[in-house]
Parts: sequence; C-alpha cells; structure tokens
Amino acid sequence: MPDDLASSDQYIKNQESAEKYISRFRKKTLGHYINGARTSTEGAKTFENISPISGKILNEVALGTAEDIDAASKAAKKAFPEWRDMTSSDRRKILHKIADLIVARADEIALTECVDTGQAFRFMSKAAIRGAENYRFFADKILEANNGLSLPAKDHINYTVRTPIGPVGVITPWNTPFMLSTWKIAPALAAGCTVVHKPAEWSPLTAMLLAEISAEAGIPEGVINLVNGTGEEAGKLLTEHPDIKAISFVGESFTGSKIMSQGSNTLKRVHFELGGKNPVIVFDDADLDKALDAVVFMIFSLNGERCTSSSRLLIQSSIQERFLESLAERIDNLSVGDPLDPKTEIGPLIHQNHLDKVRKYFDIAQKEGVSVKSGGKISNKEGYFIEPTLFSNANSKMKVSQEEIFGPVLTAIPFEDEEEALEIANDVSYGLAGYIWTRDVGRAHRLAKSLEAGMIWINSENNRHLPAPFGGMKNSGIGRDGGDYSFDFYMETKNICVALDTHKVPQIGK
Ligand code: NAD
Repeated sequence: MPDDLASSDQYIKNQESAEKYISRFRKKTLGHYINGARTSTEGAKTFENISPISGKILNEVALGTAEDIDAASKAAKKAFPEWRDMTSSDRRKILHKIADLIVARADEIALTECVDTGQAFRFMSKAAIRGAENYRFFADKILEANNGLSLPAKDHINYTVRTPIGPVGVITPWNTPFMLSTWKIAPALAAGCTVVHKPAEWSPLTAMLLAEISAEAGIPEGVINLVNGTGEEAGKLLTEHPDIKAISFVGESFTGSKIMSQGSNTLKRVHFELGGKNPVIVFDDADLDKALDAVVFMIFSLNGERCTSSSRLLIQSSIQERFLESLAERIDNLSVGDPLDPKTEIGPLIHQNHLDKVRKYFDIAQKEGVSVKSGGKISNKEGYFIEPTLFSNANSKMKVSQEEIFGPVLTAIPFEDEEEALEIANDVSYGLAGYIWTRDVGRAHRLAKSLEAGMIWINSENNRHLPAPFGGMKNSGIGRDGGDYSFDFYMETKNICVALDTHKVPQIGK
C-alpha cells in the first residue's frame, strides 16, 4: 500500500480508537487513586481538563485536598515496610509485569496522551514504549545495586548497604507526562520506596492509566498512590507532609525554588529536573545537512515543549545566511495539525495560557528588533495551534535568547569564533543540555568540557542511554537520574561495622 494511504488508514484508526479511549473519561470526574482504589468523587471540588485540539472541556478532575494528600501519604507510609522488605527479585517481577501491561496498552496510552497534551502520535507512540523500558531497566538495575564489603582492620568486617529512603512524592509536568512519570516512579519502586504521585493539572489522564496498570500487575495496596489537583494546594501539601521523605520534581525552575522552601521544615531531600535554554552550536566545518536535520528535530519535535529542546541556535557567521535559508525552508514544510494524524509533526500547544505565554514572545521579539524568518503567528483554527517560528539576528542579551519559551520557537544568534560561541552558550541562567556540531575533534572536546550544561551531545541529536546520568546545572536542576544515579536519590547509604570476637575494646576508667 502506498505510504499516503497507509497513513490515512492509520489516522482514521487513531481517531476511532482515541474516541473510544477518551469516552471513559468524558462526562465523569477523574478522582484520585489511594491505597489500591479509586476514590469517590462525590461532592469533590473540581477543575476542568481542556482538550488542546478543540479548546473544549474533556473532563472534570477532582481537586486534591489536605485530607487526600494525608490519606495518600499515610497509605504510602503503611505500605513501605512490606515493599521495602520484599526481595529485589520479587519486586522485579512486578515491575516487569507493569512493563508488559504498558506495552499491551501502548496504543491507548499514546492516543490518550495525544488528546490530553496535543503532542503528535508519531512521538507519543514511542514515548509509551519508552515508559515500559524505564520499568524494565530499573527493575534489572537494582539487582546489581552496589553493596560494598571491605575488611578495614584485622578484627573487623565492614560493609555498606543501601536502603530505600521511605515514601516519596513524585511531582510531574504536562509535557510527555506518561514517559516522565515512569522515569521517576520506576526507579523509586525498584529501590523499594512507596510513592505519592501528583501529576500536572493540564494532563492528568495517563497517570490514572499507570495506576490501573500497576494494580493489575500486582503492586500491593498503598505502594503507588495518585492525587490530582493544583500545584499550589495538592503539590504544596505533598512537599510539606512529614511522612514524605523526598520529593522528585520535574517542572519549572521557579516552582523548584518554591518546593525547596516548602520542604525545608521537614528537611526533605529534593531532586529537581527543571527548565532549559539549550544551545546548539553549529560551526562552518560541520556536516551541515545532518546538523540541519538535528536542529529541526530538536526544537520542533514534541511541539518544542521539551526541556532538552535546542531552543538557541548559535550559528557561525560565515554560514549563517545559507544555513538559515535552508532552515526556514524546512520549517515552512513542517506539518502542523491534528496530533492523531500520523503525518503530523507539530500538534497544538497544551493550553490557552501556554499559547498566550508563547505568543507573548512574538511581541517581545518585535520590540527587541529580531527578524522573523519563519512563522511568528498563531493559527485562527480551533485549538491551540501556533506556527513553528524562527527568530534570526538576535543577540544573547535579548529576552528571546535568555528565557525558556517552551514552544516551537527557535532563536538564532550569530558568532564569529569558538571563544564567542562559548561565551554566548554559557550566558544564560540555565544549564541543562548543549549540542555541538563540528568536525574538529579538539574543538568539540574543548567546548564539551567548558559548556555549563549537564549533558552534551556532539554531532548528534538527543540520543538517550538509560544508564547515563540525566540532569542539569545552574537553574536547570539538582541531582541526576539514570542508572545508579536514580538509586542514589531514592536510597540511603548505610555503613555497618562488625567486630570479630578476637577484637579487644579499648578500656578506660577501669
Ligand atoms: P510547573 O513547574 O508549572 O509544574 C510542574 C508540576 O509542579 C505540576 O504538577 C504542578 O502542579 C506542580 N506545582 C506547581 N506549583 C507547585 C508548588 N508550589 N508545590 C508543589 N508542586 C507544584 O511546570 P510545567 O509548566 O508543568 O512544566 C514545564 C516545565 O518543566 C518547563 O520549564 C520544562 O523545561 C520543565 N521540564 C524539565 C525537564 C527536565 O528533565 N529538566 C523535563 C520536562 C519538563
């Protein structure tokens, strides 16, 4: 069958299936999931969950209260000892079962997420499978967790164990919410922690699918709990609850600083994955065709609503004109439309408020005197659609170069040489990711060493490797995820020293 026909068949199938999956949420209030059961929503205060595709109400969602957070935290506390004491291999079986069930329901998860977030099916179908991979990876990884043994002195044996920290709070954002939730929850469960999850207000649906899947896989009651609601109420209460020992948070830098102070009274351990304004630096000796593919992919996939998006293009002056011409051509060809259509590359933004935020940067760009090389307008069709946009001839001090726009908007800044590229790249408050395009190996390594960012990709788009550390410097975060780094956060390290009976205790005061 020709590609076009196959993809139009897939589009029709997606629309029918999405309608079926979403109908279970429509006209109902989505509640919480506490101690192994969905909560009653009778009499609950609610908020509206809006479809980014139509701008219309999808469903009502219960606003989590102090009682809900308390019940969820207590359930997690009660369930903790049994989950902690289960052997890693028994926990592993349950986590693998969750992964199997995610794969079995991947279509439902992907399509629900498309409708709830506006992110395109071609990316969401992969994100659902990556969610399953997160469970498999951490379930296996915990079996090799590093418990060291040493013989420090003649009469002693010394060993180190790692124990789960306790019930933890996981607070997630609205971009790729399913994948990001699994990225946080899977290592917490593998480590032996119990969880209270507070998903984002604008994309609450797939968190409930994950709770259902966990129950079906045999997760004991109270090990995973879910409370919907606002950040200011449910989120804040979770960060303050005395039974919650740590908060793993993904979201804006400003929210991270609030959470740090909210959690300070109970001395919470925090792990933050925050915003970014990531540079992609393209030198004139790079493979420019590949660099072009990567630049387009890393800012326009996932609607640009991606923390690691390469939102600042630092382009060497000698190739600026040529590169930006080709870039503008590619941008004008991007397919913007219904996220359920497999041909769609850019869907609608998540919410009216977010559309307003992104649109504000069109006005700012105009005031700052930046040229609009592509896009620069919102669409007048239903839903929160916006044109993929390229600002050119910006300088590093402008707001469009400094602030996280978090949409399909790329700011191009010219530079003369390596020294200037580095200066511009580091001239922001963020430090999440950096991308370098050059054939000069020495230059690539010099820059990689000096760039203030937690993750650097050289001549590559964002290729992720699950054992590799993920996280940012400066205002982009605290701590790292991935491999053992995730367990460092969710576990305490305890040293135990045992004296043999040949050991003589020093005697004083005898
Ligand atoms: P946000 O900070 O507004 O909200 C994130 C979550 O925090 C939501 O669940 C929200 O309800 C909750 N929250 C808000 N105020 C709170 C408070 N006072 N106490 C406790 N919880 C509170 O972020 P967002 O707009 O949902 O997400 C977009 C942001 O996330 C962007 O800045 C993006 O870069 C960042 N992000 C970072 C990464 C990363 O890995 N570094 C990944 C994805 C997204």
